[in-house]
Amino acid sequence: MINRISRLAVGLLETNCYFIYPSEKDKGNDKNPAAAVSSFADDDGYGNINASDEVEYPAGFAKEKVISNIPEQGLNELLIIDTCSSKCINMSSKGLESNLACGHEDTQLQNNPLEHRIPLKKDKIPAIVVDPGADIARINKHLNERDLYPALVVLTHSHFDHFGAASELNCPIAAHPKAAAFLAEPSLNMSISQGLPLTLDVNFFIDDGSLIKFNGDTLEIIHTPGHSPGSICIIFDKIVLTGDTLFKQGFGRFDLPGGNIVALKESLRKLLKRGFIRALPGHGPETDFKEASNSLSFFI
Ligand SMILES: [Zn+2]
Repeated sequence: MINRISRLAVGLLETNCYFIYPSEKDKGNDKNPAAAVSSFADDDGYGNINASDEVEYPAGFAKEKVISNIPEQGLNELLIIDTCSSKCINMSSKGLESNLACGHEDTQLQNNPLEHRIPLKKDKIPAIVVDPGADIARINKHLNERDLYPALVVLTHSHFDHFGAASELNCPIAAHPKAAAFLAEPSLNMSISQGLPLTLDVNFFIDDGSLIKFNGDTLEIIHTPGHSPGSICIIFDKIVLTGDTLFKQGFGRFDLPGGNIVALKESLRKLLKRGFIRALPGHGPETDFKEASNSLSFFI
């Protein structure tokens, strides 16, 4: 079992920052996604991460959500399809008190999702940067070495060790509305515990069912509260970026502000039901569906 307490205490340099970007070498190959994920784990020998088509989804996996009226995406833009912003803006304004499940009863918004279009530069390769926790020099080096530029930051949740370098990337930031409420308050985003109070503004809200369309691929957002009220996971071609919800042989703490063990168990069950082949956590090495199922069985 990973000791999360010590990980958080020294988490500034330990958080995994992930980069999702078009992968030139995979273009034109139907068996591979047209995008790649890389991370600082590269230095430890992981290399670029692509979902393997050699591994089949276990039976019974949930299908991808289908949202009607998905707008067309131009190749020169990144498109965020937001299914419940207006509903959750109201909820997030209540801060901690808003720790309720987002019901998504608003079928009108589900059928007519909000669209946010981010124009992409032509001279560099756009990347979505997930959880730039710290060390902007290292992040920039990683981007520059791949001729990437940050087009969008996506935060899996609101803890300081996942967003500490986000503002220095000078690009739009997307997070769950409940994460936005915590990002605005150093005692809730835990930065005050480091003696360095940090706040961060969010540009785009993403929630359960929101989609990010990018280079012909689709990233799906699922809301997974429990570690924090605004925790999300990002599903992308059988890969899931789990933030601090799921770790290799473990799961996130639920005793921090807004944490909720019942919600965490429900989120982990939801994640397993939704399915994935590889899970890339916010800390530590990756895991897979079988290992995650086995390690969570005693908890959920
Ligand atoms: Zn966390």
